[in-house]
Amino acid sequence: MTLKKLLTLSLLILPISWPAASVGADEPDFSQLRQQMIEEVERQVRETASEVGDDHLDPRVIKALASVPREEFVPLTRRHQAYENRPLPIGYGQTISQPYIVAIMTDLLELKPGDRVLEIGTGSGYQAAVAAQLAKKVYSIEIIEILGRKARKRLKRLGYDNVRVRLGDGYYGWKEHAPYDAIIVTAAASHIPPPLVRQLKRGGRMIIPVGSRFATQQLVLVEKDREGEVHTRQLMPVTFVPLTGGHKR
Ligand code: SAH
Repeated sequence: MTLKKLLTLSLLILPISWPAASVGADEPDFSQLRQQMIEEVERQVRETASEVGDDHLDPRVIKALASVPREEFVPLTRRHQAYENRPLPIGYGQTISQPYIVAIMTDLLELKPGDRVLEIGTGSGYQAAVAAQLAKKVYSIEIIEILGRKARKRLKRLGYDNVRVRLGDGYYGWKEHAPYDAIIVTAAASHIPPPLVRQLKRGGRMIIPVGSRFATQQLVLVEKDREGEVHTRQLMPVTFVPLTGGHKR
């Protein structure tokens, strides 16, 4: 090959490889940061134990948190903050929940390997990915089309093949795959949506932030017992983005 040809070739190749290279360059050690995040989350779980009634995370939940690369679920400009124990903006006025909140909500669902889970509010797809490590199948609904499409692509790229993302209003659930062993709502509703209660299996659990969009909400655990009776328990104040959509409030 002549020098000229070689130069032309490398000029053709170089720009393509640049963006990928710049993501990896000067990046922190994410696995170390992930471990620190887990320690911070465990500390917060202990601090809130008496309020929430959950004093430690199931080792399976810790393992799931340790395996999901949170930096892949935040915007490129936020990668360095991916493991801070705080919510981060993901665009379109939405946020990826704080790691502690993802951890405690997941833990409270007591997911088992055979479970089918419904998530309302896919957002970045991070919560779905964590749940996907612990359950058989995760069905997730997102109302903002572009976020849903992006999350679907991201989950596929990262190999979370047991997650399905649908675009639509999660208030009505996803009847086709009901009933669910667990339902997790990651946007605040003014009330517990009756369709979701109907789609919860007997013996199943739902976790949902309930309250006004202008104030702090309450994280509520909804349990449907073996007889089909529904029990609710308020766990702690939280702040979520509102559940939107056309349903009557
Ligand atoms: N679970 C997400 C965080 C979600 S933020 C994560 O891990 O990143 C809440 C999400 O709920 C937002 O993306 C918002 O668009 C979505 N949402 C709000 N109302 C909704 C509705 N009625 N149906 C489905 N998704 C909804």
